[in-house]
Amino acid sequence: MDRNLMFESIGVSQTVLEFGEEILDDLRERFAKIDETAEYNQMKVISAMQKNRIDAACFAATTGYGYNDVGREKLERVYADTFHTEAALVRPQITCGTHALAVALSANLLPGDELLSPVGMPYDTLQEVIGIRDARCSLKEYGVSYRQVDLLPDGSFDYPAIEKAIGEKTKLITIQRSKGYAMRPSFSTAQIGELIAFCKKCKPGVTVMVDNCYGEFVEPTEPSDFGADMIVGSLIKNPGGGLAPVGGYICGTNECVQRCAFRLSAPGLGQEVGANLGILPAMYQGFFLAPTVTAGALKGAIFAANVYERLGFRVLPDASEPRHDIIQAVELGSREAMVAFCKGIQAAAPVDSYVNPEPWAMPGYDDEVIMAAGAFVQGSSIELSADGPIRPPYGIYFQGGLTWYHAKLGILMSLQKLVDAGIVTTEMMKEHTK
Ligand SMILES: *Cc1c(COP(=O)(O)O)cnc(C)c1O
Repeated sequence: MDRNLMFESIGVSQTVLEFGEEILDDLRERFAKIDETAEYNQMKVISAMQKNRIDAACFAATTGYGYNDVGREKLERVYADTFHTEAALVRPQITCGTHALAVALSANLLPGDELLSPVGMPYDTLQEVIGIRDARCSLKEYGVSYRQVDLLPDGSFDYPAIEKAIGEKTKLITIQRSKGYAMRPSFSTAQIGELIAFCKKCKPGVTVMVDNCYGEFVEPTEPSDFGADMIVGSLIKNPGGGLAPVGGYICGTNECVQRCAFRLSAPGLGQEVGANLGILPAMYQGFFLAPTVTAGALKGAIFAANVYERLGFRVLPDASEPRHDIIQAVELGSREAMVAFCKGIQAAAPVDSYVNPEPWAMPGYDDEVIMAAGAFVQGSSIELSADGPIRPPYGIYFQGGLTWYHAKLGILMSLQKLVDAGIVTTEMMKEHTK
């Protein structure tokens, strides 16, 4: 079958395809740069696997207590060596990113301590962990106070206010790399490094944690290369490479990571327990694929930015900005447009493509949320997905794609659904082609 007919048979019209192809012509150089980063990160992962002499014995399942689990221990060494940290906790018993962050925070903060976010409001689900929104078992309930310094209007750090906010009680500083559901820039590892250096100058010995969700392998460096005491993330995002079926990681100093292990299991037990239940092959292979998968997702994000900016929508990051995570926000301006966009992403999926996404009240989130995903791993957002809280300015957050080709199809399909709904017109597309 002819290529255009192939696209048409799957639901992408000739007009939409041509519009997309023209935009892609201008992106070749940027894509080459992304491939370079992926190549570099691929070597980091392979070196770490070679150094730790990974072999078939590492893939064996353990059950029960999981004592002497060589595969689990070596996987943690591979993470630590790749991210250049002393230690790592990488476990299927960490249920998601929020859980990993909650473990890292509650393990390293004691009653009377203060937590500081110098980068504004943390990700939605962390607000209950911290107690910004009242919740049972929040850090606030355990006597940990919280302080926040907002970013300046241009998205940069408010250094004077941060210096003032760091006090005697400040024990841990949390920095979120990715924008999450906020319309602010994501930070480069170098920017994060600057902020860490500033905080540690204000208060030597303060612990710095970086919420690294969606940032892994986007750049050749990680925040741990710039002095972060802990970096934390989810295995159903970048580092799981789409294959890890569950899990989270905390990489950092021996002291911080050991405390996390005692909090996750029990004081006295720490890292010595935790059966792998047979999923180590997927965790290893997923980490091996993660640099490439992340590169595909990045290309998708850049393509989406260019498509929607060309059509006159506000996109964040904009079409030409450097990237620090795999999230692409598009301000669609209405509930209807959010729904149409998500229908397109859903329709492009290999799994659940027949499902119609609808807004719903999701646990941990304040507003109604719409999500589109047709994933092999439920809720995996390294797989092609789009989501966003239904509130002005009606920004949709687009991410993932296990392959670049799938990401591309998803974006073309989202545009097709906006065309079908009459929100984007053929005239708008023609007007904006050169
Ligand atoms: C996804 C995400 C989280 C939470 O991860 P879950 O796996 O959804 O619990 C936290 N912070 C940021 C910035 C995220 O993107």
